[in-house]
Amino acid sequence: MNPSFDPNSLRKDLFIDGVWRKAAGAATFTVENPATQEVIAEVADGGPGDALLAIRAAGRAQAQWATSTPRARADILRRAFDLVVANTDRLAAIMTAEMGKPLAEAKGEVAYGAEFLRWFSEEALRIGGDLTTSADGNTRILISKEPVGPCVLVTPWNFPLAMGTRKIAPAIAAGCTMVFKPAELTPLTALALVDIFQQAGLPDGVLNVVTTSAPADVVGSWMNSGIARKVSFTGSTGVGKILLSQAAENVMRSSMELGGNAPFIVLADADVERAVEGAMMAKMRNMGEACTAANRFFVHRTLVAEFEEKLAKRMSELKVGNGAIAGTEVGPLIEQAGLDKVEGLVADAVARGARVVTGGFRPEGPGYFYSPTVLTDVPLDAKLMSTEIFGPVAAITPFDSEDEVVRLANDTVWGLVGYVFTENVDKAMRFSSALEVGMVGLNTGLVSNPAAPFGGVKQSGLGREGGKMGIDEFLEYKYTAIAT
Ligand code: ADP
Repeated sequence: MNPSFDPNSLRKDLFIDGVWRKAAGAATFTVENPATQEVIAEVADGGPGDALLAIRAAGRAQAQWATSTPRARADILRRAFDLVVANTDRLAAIMTAEMGKPLAEAKGEVAYGAEFLRWFSEEALRIGGDLTTSADGNTRILISKEPVGPCVLVTPWNFPLAMGTRKIAPAIAAGCTMVFKPAELTPLTALALVDIFQQAGLPDGVLNVVTTSAPADVVGSWMNSGIARKVSFTGSTGVGKILLSQAAENVMRSSMELGGNAPFIVLADADVERAVEGAMMAKMRNMGEACTAANRFFVHRTLVAEFEEKLAKRMSELKVGNGAIAGTEVGPLIEQAGLDKVEGLVADAVARGARVVTGGFRPEGPGYFYSPTVLTDVPLDAKLMSTEIFGPVAAITPFDSEDEVVRLANDTVWGLVGYVFTENVDKAMRFSSALEVGMVGLNTGLVSNPAAPFGGVKQSGLGREGGKMGIDEFLEYKYTAIAT
C-alpha cells in the first residue's frame, strides 16, 4: 500500500503540559490496519501515573486559560481549522490506515471534523450573558457564563478526527482545559490532531492527551481526581453508564453521546428512489459503523419488493476492499470482535426466518471485511432489532399501518435519530414529533452537521454537540445580585 504519510512523522507519544513524552516505563501498544492486519505503529501506553500528570497539568492551566480573550481562543481555533484543511490528505491517509474507511470518506470526515473548529471559532466570540431586574425592582441580576473547568474527553474509534474536534473545539471556545483519551484502536489520527493544536498556538496544559490500552484505569483516575469538573463521552451506552456513575460520585457535569438503534421508515407514499438513496447514506456511511446508522428498516408492505430489490442492487455493486486503494467504497470493519458480532446477528436473523437478498458472507482473505448485506422479512424478535449492528447490514421489516410503525420505531431503549421518507408534508411533521429521538432525517439519510445540535434522548445520551447549544455544555452560569 502507498499511504500518503511518512510513518516516521507520526506522533506516538503522550502530550502533557505542552511536551511530547513517553509513557511510564516506555510502555507501548500496537495499532493495526484492519484491512491488512499489519501493525502500523507502537503508541505510548499511558497508565494512571501518566493520567495524573495530565489532569494536574489541565488543573494548573485552567485559571489563566479562563482569562484568555475570546478573540485569542477564536484565532487558535481558526488556525487549527486552516491547518487541518491544509493537512487533509495526510490526516485522511492516517485515518484510513488505522480505521479502515475508504480514503474518500476519510477526506469527508476531515472536512466535517474541521468545520467544528471553524464553527466554534465563531461561537467563541458570542458567549454573551444577561442583565435583568428582579420582579420587585430591588435587585439587578447579572448573569455571566464561565468555563465549567477541566474536562475529561473520551472518544470512540469510528470517527477518529471529528469526534475529537466536536469536543475539543467547544471546550477551547468556552475556555476549558482538557484531558483527552482517544480510542485505543485509532490513536494516530487523534495524536496528529493534537500536534496541529500545538502548531496553532494552544498554550501548554490546555489540551493534554493520554493514549492507553487500559481506558478504565486512565479515565477512572481522571474522573476521581477531584480536578475534573466535566466529562464528555462518545461511545457505547455500557461505558457511558460507568462514566455517569463516576460522574455522580464526583458531581460532575456530563455530556453523553451513546448508542443508537435508528429506525428508517419508508411510508407508502414515499419516493422509492429517494428512499434508496437515503438508505445508502444512512446505512453505508462508515461501513455502518456509526451510532446514527439506520439499524431497522421499516418499509410499507406495498413498497417492500421494489425497495429491497433496488437497495440490494446498489449494495451489491459497491466495491469492497482496502480503503487506501482508489475506488474502494466499503472498507473493513474495525476488528475481529466487530466482524464476529455482525456475522452472529445475521445468522440469528436468518435462523428466525429472515431472508438474505444480497451479501451475508465474509469475503476470503485478510482484513475484517463483511459483504454489504440486505436482509428482508426480518422478524421483530431477531437480535439485531435491539442491538446496534455496526456493520453493512440493512435489515428490512414490512409494516402495514402508520400507528404500528411509530410503535415499532419507539420500541427501543435508544433514541438518537430516526429517518422518515414520505412525500406528504403533514405526515412528515407528524412523524417528526411522534418519534422518540433527538434528531430526525426527513427524506435524507444524513443528519450530522456542525451547525446543528447532535444528540439523543432515552439511553442515547445527554446533552448536545454542535450548533449554538454545543458550547453551553462547557459553560456554567454565574449570577451576581446587585443591590439597586
Ligand atoms: P465502542 O464499542 O464503540 O468501542 P466503547 O464505549 O467501548 O465503544 O469505547 C469508546 C471509548 O471509551 C474508547 O475511547 C474506549 O477506550 C473508552 N472506554 C472503554 N471502556 C472504558 C471504561 N471502562 N472507562 C472509560 N473509558 C472507557
